[in-house]
Amino acid sequence: MRNIPGPWKRTAAGAGLLSAEGVVAPTIFAEMSALAARTGAINLGQGFPDEDGPAQVLEAARDAIAHGVNQYPPGRGIQDLRQAIAEHQQRFYSLHLDPDRDVIVTAGATEAIAATLLALLDGPEDEVVVFEPYYDEYAACVALAGATMRTVPLRWPDFQPDLERLADAVTDRTRIILVNDPHNPTGAVFSREVLDEVVRLAHLHDAIIVTDEVYEHLTFGVPHVPISTLPSAWERTLTISSGGKTFSTTGWKIGWVSGPAELVDAVLTVKQFLTYVNGAPFQPAIATGLRLGRDFFDGIAETLRHKRDVLVEGLRAAGFGVSVPDGSYFVVADAAGIGATDAAEFCRALPDRAGVVAIPLTAFATPERRADYATLVRFAACKRVEVLEEAASRLAALG
Ligand code: PMP
Ligand code: GLN
Repeated sequence: MRNIPGPWKRTAAGAGLLSAEGVVAPTIFAEMSALAARTGAINLGQGFPDEDGPAQVLEAARDAIAHGVNQYPPGRGIQDLRQAIAEHQQRFYSLHLDPDRDVIVTAGATEAIAATLLALLDGPEDEVVVFEPYYDEYAACVALAGATMRTVPLRWPDFQPDLERLADAVTDRTRIILVNDPHNPTGAVFSREVLDEVVRLAHLHDAIIVTDEVYEHLTFGVPHVPISTLPSAWERTLTISSGGKTFSTTGWKIGWVSGPAELVDAVLTVKQFLTYVNGAPFQPAIATGLRLGRDFFDGIAETLRHKRDVLVEGLRAAGFGVSVPDGSYFVVADAAGIGATDAAEFCRALPDRAGVVAIPLTAFATPERRADYATLVRFAACKRVEVLEEAASRLAALG
């Protein structure tokens, strides 16, 4: 055992948040963005767009700042944004929400996930079932809540879960089934059978379903189906989303949780002591965004689909195997085709070898499962087409 001084370090070590050297480890996204900045490589690692979102949304934030929307907003979020979220759920999914009881605004989906897990989990007996590979925050927050994570593997190349393995993972100890759809890092959009099975198992074992739908508007020719719209799902589902991806405002950190009032209240009890509130002038701006016309929402999916195609084609031409995603910001490629045996090593060397940054899929997996993803790499497609083309031509020179 290392001699780690201080109780905070023991806690952080227990939650797996320290590096092997015993210092606070940066997230894989921060590490890779720093690597890109240091080397001047094209950053296809951390998922953020390199262009601004809709002008009306940006203008609404400027306007709010100019008109004094600069103090603490209400704890649940400004009423107009909660109203806009309810309107959005009605317009896209025919869900009827009470904006005063069924919705709260959070500091991004990140806080929504943290507050939800901390509110609903009560120690090591409580289990959370997640699909693996998974967004890194899930494991960190399950650990911070002192609970236990069970994972169901998603496998190359379609990354749909095996329904029997899913059924095996969910038991009476399962408190939460956490479903990220569309999925980061794989870009999978889960089939209707998977979503139905999640609902069936949640009922069978009296579990709560928590969904992370931050890529809800970024699917390519397949519909996004929120689990809360499925028969008998609403009563036990908390739905999380965010304005970051939809409006290309990842730095604004406006997210939300919606669902049955009692569950939302449980999340609020924790949320009010995490950030209390955030982003006053950005809240009306995201309300403006959520009320944009259908053409805007269709347009962002179409634009990203084109970018996905450019990246997929470029990766194939460079010799990678490619899993073509149905949604999200990301494309997963197999670097075995160009001689890699260890994606982490490959990604560490990639800025020097090719001037490109990407993220190994092992960063999203538990140590026991890393071997399954040993040669897989995640590339972000949410960049300008010319940037993706330049990255592709640099990667082609690798072969
Ligand atoms: N969930 C997933 C699956 C993500 O990819 C991200 C990263 N954007 C988040 C949650 C965090 O969202 P936010 O930036 O709104 O906190
Ligand atoms: N969601 C982004 C990604 O997967 C990163 C968010 C973050 O840096 N925490 O790349």
